[in-house]
Amino acid sequence: KRTGGNRACFYNEIESDTRARERIRLEAELKTALLRDEIRIVFQPKIDCASMKVVGAEVLARWDHPERGMLAPGCFIDVAEESGLIAKLGDRVMELACLQGRAWLDRGRSMPIAVNVSIRQLEKPGFTARVLEILNFTGFPAELLQFEVTETVAMADPEGVSQTTKPLLEAGITFAIDDFGTGYSSLAHLQRLPFNTFKIDRSFISRLAADHHSRSIVQTIIAMAKSLNYEVVAEGVETEEQHVFLKEHGCTTAQGFLFARPMPADRFESWSRGFLQP
Ligand code: C2E
Ligand code: CA
Ligand code: CA
Ligand code: CA
Repeated sequence: KRTGGNRACFYNEIESDTRARERIRLEAELKTALLRDEIRIVFQPKIDCASMKVVGAEVLARWDHPERGMLAPGCFIDVAEESGLIAKLGDRVMELACLQGRAWLDRGRSMPIAVNVSIRQLEKPGFTARVLEILNFTGFPAELLQFEVTETVAMADPEGVSQTTKPLLEAGITFAIDDFGTGYSSLAHLQRLPFNTFKIDRSFISRLAADHHSRSIVQTIIAMAKSLNYEVVAEGVETEEQHVFLKEHGCTTAQGFLFARPMPADRFESWSRGFLQP
């Protein structure tokens, strides 16, 4: 399955030593994949809740596997992180994203792009330098680039994160807390970290209709974002009711299958042309 989850990756019911061997094989394959340039990216639009305009795109990695087809990140990000291959993979994703962003810019479309960055990438020395290098050689403006960092990990070492991110912030890159609401962030940390966007985790959005706790949590996150002067993006919006709820409660931006699935650059381009432009 194209955008499917982990199910499509491997056999489920295999013995654990087989699974361990599978993992080792996967790591070797991923190494080869990076050499053979099998990493692709897809784009999912972010929509302004009120105006319905496309206000940006999230970049999601795919592995164009020679035998198993297009693999979703659920199949390989964990292995990439554990093996240290995430740095190379992340660099490649960022490079592809910035190249595409630059190509759109050259055709007169200024599209803000968000790239997922794992804490393993942020921790590695040289990350900042490589990002600046990629921006430099692609000519993609830092102001159009956002990094999405998952809440849990970002909060483990707020001091370290804020050190690494300082030069990137100064360059104009912005940071979003991904999967907000699911991690362990202390509210005290929020102030010290360089984020300016919350991405409300999909789990809260999917329970909006059924569960009044989720409604309260979503409303609270939106209110908190507003008072901190943060942007707030709801992820995993699948129904019109969810969209209406979010709009009525002042959520600025939404993303999800209701609007579009992640798609390759050329499809994203024609899709968003038919949609309202930024
Ligand atoms: P994420 O950052 O939370 O990305 C959103 C995921 O939700 C994507 O799955 C997207 O396809 C899916 N999604 C979007 N809208 C909907 C919806 O309405 N309903 C449902 N059910 N799902 C929706 P995907 O592409 O499989 O990515 C999974 C995760 O892999 C991402 O979660 C992100 O944490 C990670 N990831 C993806 N690309 C990269 C990358 O380049 N680097 C790193 N470090 N992580 C990545
Ligand atoms: Ca994300
Ligand atoms: Ca997310
Ligand atoms: Ca997620």
